[in-house]
Amino acid sequence: MNELKTLGIKTALNALYLSRTHEIAAPLTEGLGAILMFHHVRSARPGRFQPNPHLDVTPDFLGAVIRHLRRRDIDIVDLYEAMRRLAGSASGRRFVVLTFDDGYRNNLTEAYPVLKAAAAPFTVYVATGLVDRTAITWWDVIGEIVRHNPRICGRAGDAEFDLPAASVREKAAALEAIIRLLTTCDEDEQRRAVARMAAAHGIDAKALGDSLMLDWDEVRALASDPLVTIGAHTVGHYALSRLDQGRARREMEESRARLFEAAGVAARHFAYPYGSVDAAGPREFALAEELGFATAVTTRRGVLQGGNAESPLALPRISVNGGFQALRYIDLLLSGVPFALERGMKRLRGITSAAPLASASTQ
Ligand SMILES: [Zn+2]
Repeated sequence: MNELKTLGIKTALNALYLSRTHEIAAPLTEGLGAILMFHHVRSARPGRFQPNPHLDVTPDFLGAVIRHLRRRDIDIVDLYEAMRRLAGSASGRRFVVLTFDDGYRNNLTEAYPVLKAAAAPFTVYVATGLVDRTAITWWDVIGEIVRHNPRICGRAGDAEFDLPAASVREKAAALEAIIRLLTTCDEDEQRRAVARMAAAHGIDAKALGDSLMLDWDEVRALASDPLVTIGAHTVGHYALSRLDQGRARREMEESRARLFEAAGVAARHFAYPYGSVDAAGPREFALAEELGFATAVTTRRGVLQGGNAESPLALPRISVNGGFQALRYIDLLLSGVPFALERGMKRLRGITSAAPLASASTQ
């Protein structure tokens, strides 16, 4: 996300917060609860350029969020309890589910002590290839490439690029441009392109994976605590909708099998990698159902409503964006107002884009 866009969103969210609209509208928009999504939990890294800052929150902020939820009398529950409450068969108190994607080691070393001290249940969705070191969080690799190099060149599919990356501003722009190219080319080409770029720019992707990701002993350590739910997140962390059906199914099925084999975990919960409309749709929801997962989460934005009990394999989540580490943003997001506005804007765009057709037909 570029700085201007972030600034624009911050300005809009702050204006919304100051207007207190979220407090007035919350009874209509806040739903019954929400699933929050985190990735890295760690202190700010050295240097002015922070790659992918939206994926990082500090342990202190995580602790502050938990204390804030408790102060607001919002329960922190696991996925099963969330589903019971959505189905209306349990307490009507508001609730939040805390989820952490991918299987980062800092979830154990930095987040776990905070969560444990607060007795807060949480879910870690593990992509097993990341633990087996057969896959890599390629966005972290690209982040490191951009951090350590003043110029980045490479190729993704048919697109060749040669980008300046000396200043913080150039680095941010280069990272955004490269990630855009890598998320539009073929998934296998994406991984080849990242490997080529890492080799050409002096980044040891394997060492980075070793330092960033949990190993199996650590997954087992987490799984042994009843506070922790381990969910599946595929093997290779590919955008499933960009794979053929058989491969998408294997990605889902084999990650669950590997979790059982390597950590003794019978994973009943699943998270679609990337989770956006482009990365997971009805075909993937049907696969998750066929494979018998109890719940599956997307990154489609929203709070949880009673109706979500009917589609437990396409649950919305709220990303806790590291660029927005202030409790007022948490309150705003949990109010559901930004998502209601977003849906309203989409409908409005639908109406205005349909207008020329409507007027043409009346001529
Ligand atoms: Zn992920």
